[in-house]
Amino acid sequence: MTEKRKTPLLDELEKGPWPSFVKEIKKEAQRPMADELLGILERSYEDRVSHWKHGGLVGVMGYGGGVIGRYNDLPEEFPAVREFHTYRVNQPSAWFYTSAALRQLCDIWEKHGSGLTNMHGSTGDIIFLGGTSESLEPCFAELSHNGWDLGGSGSNMRTPSCCVGPARCEWACYDTLGACYDITQAFQDELHRPFFPYKYKFKFAGCPNDCVASIARSDCSIIGTWKDNIQVDQKKVGEYAKSGVDIQSEVCDLCPTSCMSWDGKKLVIDNSNCVRCMHCINVLSKALKPGKERGATILVGSKAPIIGGALLSSVFVPFLEMNPPYEDLKELTEAIWDLWGEHGKNRERVGEFIQRVGLGNFLNEIGL
Ligand code: SF4
Ligand code: SF4
Repeated sequence: MTEKRKTPLLDELEKGPWPSFVKEIKKEAQRPMADELLGILERSYEDRVSHWKHGGLVGVMGYGGGVIGRYNDLPEEFPAVREFHTYRVNQPSAWFYTSAALRQLCDIWEKHGSGLTNMHGSTGDIIFLGGTSESLEPCFAELSHNGWDLGGSGSNMRTPSCCVGPARCEWACYDTLGACYDITQAFQDELHRPFFPYKYKFKFAGCPNDCVASIARSDCSIIGTWKDNIQVDQKKVGEYAKSGVDIQSEVCDLCPTSCMSWDGKKLVIDNSNCVRCMHCINVLSKALKPGKERGATILVGSKAPIIGGALLSSVFVPFLEMNPPYEDLKELTEAIWDLWGEHGKNRERVGEFIQRVGLGNFLNEIGL
């Protein structure tokens, strides 16, 4: 680049108090790929049309997913981004990195691609933006050599993701990080070799707060819960009341099943009517805790509104103990995949399939 590229339309996206992807790309604009990316994006805003197209399958040897092909339709004008493929790299459970690991990822990507990343994509993967076809194998080889792997793309199991769970959160009802890692390793074939009707996502949330939005964003949501009673420290409830928290209006009145009462001295919970919504625990976090018999509820069928409308997951198994090697979860998953794999239509998510065949029939067929 000899002189600074003019991008009046993109500049508008730098205004305002929020982070700006334009600002970030500009920081890398001394590199031809980042500079031309700005150029083609500006053209898209001028022409009011995307200049990206899918131009065929790209990938690495032995894998059917993990790289998404991107080509532009103005290759003469923007040759540096003629090929601008996206890599999905499997993130560590709950996105824990050492700074050395982050530096290593950046070094690998600066060497083989544009240097631009998106941390993280909506499925959870580390996204490397902008690689050429030629760079695919060398980049993949260097990633694998350093212990990284590609994630899922296409009609396969997508890279599972999880909340921070017991690593930092006292409300975790099971080891979300361990379960996420175990399922990722157990289903490597399904992750790398697309043979499903469409994508299948797992998200592991340690409690019903569902910090990974699993109930709306995954075909299989594994949400921590408990069977017994909420643990109550009455002394600490009293301290909350003394410090000005209105237990009646802020806690009891907002309980969705009205199963709590407060007489000014004692908080009583009718646990048989508690739906484990976490509201009271969130408000009185020092006084209340999930119970001791912990596990997870397994829900199936949610999706974002790409084809058809959005769906939320439905409860399949109200309570499952979540201990390694997670055999029950794996068996259930394989039963679902067998049925949906055989009878699902092309690009039909499992939630849509269940709607089409009926939940009762689906449950019968998978033996629940
Ligand atoms: Fe903690 Fe629950 Fe959020 Fe996981 S989902 S991080 S366990 S609050
Ligand atoms: Fe009520 Fe929710 Fe607390 Fe259960 S967790 S007692 S439903 S507020």
